[in-house]
Amino acid sequence: MFGLKTDWELDVPERYFTLEDYEGGVARWCPGCGDLAVLTAVQRICRDEQLAPEQTVCVSGIGCASRFPHYMKTYGFHGLHGRALPVACGVKARRPDLTVWVATGDGDCCSIGAGHWLHAIRYNMDMTVLLFDNHVYGLTKNQTSPTSPLGMKTNTHPSGAFLPPLNPASVTLGMTNVSFVAQTVDWNPAHLYETILAGYRHRGLAFIRILQRCPTYTHSMYEDFQRDPSRLLLLTHENGIKVDPSLDRVLKNRLEHDPADLAEGRAIAEQHDPLPIGLLFHDESRPCYQDMTYHGLDMNRDERREAFERELDRFLV
Ligand code: SF4
Repeated sequence: MFGLKTDWELDVPERYFTLEDYEGGVARWCPGCGDLAVLTAVQRICRDEQLAPEQTVCVSGIGCASRFPHYMKTYGFHGLHGRALPVACGVKARRPDLTVWVATGDGDCCSIGAGHWLHAIRYNMDMTVLLFDNHVYGLTKNQTSPTSPLGMKTNTHPSGAFLPPLNPASVTLGMTNVSFVAQTVDWNPAHLYETILAGYRHRGLAFIRILQRCPTYTHSMYEDFQRDPSRLLLLTHENGIKVDPSLDRVLKNRLEHDPADLAEGRAIAEQHDPLPIGLLFHDESRPCYQDMTYHGLDMNRDERREAFERELDRFLV
């Protein structure tokens, strides 16, 4: 064809993404907020795994943690309260090529979003869900959340929360088709990084409960755990979260747990002191709903029209 030169060799430089390529707006969380550590871990993973920013989406609902997409220089969707998971499932259903991160809080996911939580686990679509569990509604200034401990005084329960808290990890482990559940803490960056990385590499929905400090409203909740690392129980196994040997000196309290053992994982997840961290359950063989929703995405327009008409013809009378 005239003007079409086919023997050019373009010397396109290989792209290399640095941390800056993932750094969005300046984070406006309170000083010392655990959310900052999670943001840093995810940005580092994006860089280390060289995820193209234009192929990455962060989805959130409403709450302090849900500001997450604003601080990532990727695509993002800051949605409605409790609706992070259906939006993320919608994105994944039509764009299988994108990496999807979900940032949701204990109020967002375990209260108003609980119905979506249940079904998203069952759908098991390929995404990494970060549950920022700070045990309080921080954005609305100190209200009792589903994970607030008994007796915790808040603006909505000034005499103390009177219902036992829900445990997001053990609840998730009881849901149909669960495939990956892990627990970590925001104040151990090495463990936090490795846990989120393992979740990212899992094919299916990786649910990661992150015990997150809120210095503004629940400042004393994890002080003792930070001061005394023996109150953390590190789950170890050859198929579990790999931790850097430098943690050997710090995290000496350990338990060998096979992440294939769902019943044991649930029993461990119920513990609070010592607080278990690591991979509670992993099963890569669980069905992913996306394998069905991707069907037909590779058809061209004519093929789709034909398939559509074929389908309609089935109902001709
Ligand atoms: Fe973080 Fe708590 Fe401040 Fe929210 S209120 S930004 S959770 S420290």
